[in-house]
Amino acid sequence: MVEWDLAKVQTRVRFPSPAKFYFNLNISLIAFFSTLLFISFSHTTDLKIVQISTSARQGELIYLKSEVTSPQTNLSVNFLGKELPCYQIAIKENKNETSQESEPTVWECFMAIPADSPIGKQTIELLDQGKAVTSVNSEIIPTAFPTEPIALSEEKKSLLSREDRPQDLKKIKQALKIESKTKKWEKELLQPIQGKIESLYGEKRILDGELKKGYHRGLDLGAPEGAPIKAANHGEVILAGKFIEEGNMVMIDHGQGFITAYLHCSKTLVRKGKKVKKGEVIGEVGSTGVVNTPHLHFGTYIHGSPIDPLYLLNKFSYE
Ligand SMILES: [Zn+2]
Repeated sequence: MVEWDLAKVQTRVRFPSPAKFYFNLNISLIAFFSTLLFISFSHTTDLKIVQISTSARQGELIYLKSEVTSPQTNLSVNFLGKELPCYQIAIKENKNETSQESEPTVWECFMAIPADSPIGKQTIELLDQGKAVTSVNSEIIPTAFPTEPIALSEEKKSLLSREDRPQDLKKIKQALKIESKTKKWEKELLQPIQGKIESLYGEKRILDGELKKGYHRGLDLGAPEGAPIKAANHGEVILAGKFIEEGNMVMIDHGQGFITAYLHCSKTLVRKGKKVKKGEVIGEVGSTGVVNTPHLHFGTYIHGSPIDPLYLLNKFSYE
């Protein structure tokens, strides 16, 4: 069975010119490596780290897999100042029922490395039921994100100073906190539309000669108004509606802290609570919110932190 094993890929070749990015990316340009560590720790929690990304770039993620033999386990990690949940991988049905020995349970954890993460060696602390068990290091490698000037009409610029913006942000923040325990996604991530890459994740923007705060938290794909947008994987709609800056937006929870977002739609075709299949049409491309031309802004989040959708798409198209 092909599984979504992100640890197989921890780096990829970055293309120097954003304008030359297209989705028919040549897989041969992607460098894959992962490192397996086999480390045992003597502690009340019998934990063995069986796989970890020893390094990853800003915009990517770190994957950690461990085996635990303690009867009661609830693993989490402390990483970049946040406690993040780990999830137990489903136990195989054909497991030997006669075996009385406690089989180790296998846990995995995805740790986002957003564009503004600190670089260099970072400690990942493993916790069992909230108590520190052990720690391991991983290296964050800097990514040279581009800086691009953007232009906005006066009408669109006026949307950036609306007083009712905090209400939108509250709803978005709330949605990104969702951690549903069941894994709904499977295998590779589907590219939501066929389109030309217009703007990259991590880009810094200059508006009217001033460098804007923050960075571009998704991937912009140019496509004609009305082009159908497909769900990138199975999941449940957790947000669907009109937002000042994001325009008409859909957010899908794929389970275990993995969420995708689809912005600037001309219209959304699903409501909150709807279960969607990978490839199901959820909306149409538009130019609502703070944008000038029709495109899809596609966002991918792990435990609430945005990572590079291209990284995920490249990886998943490899499977
Ligand atoms: Zn965008």
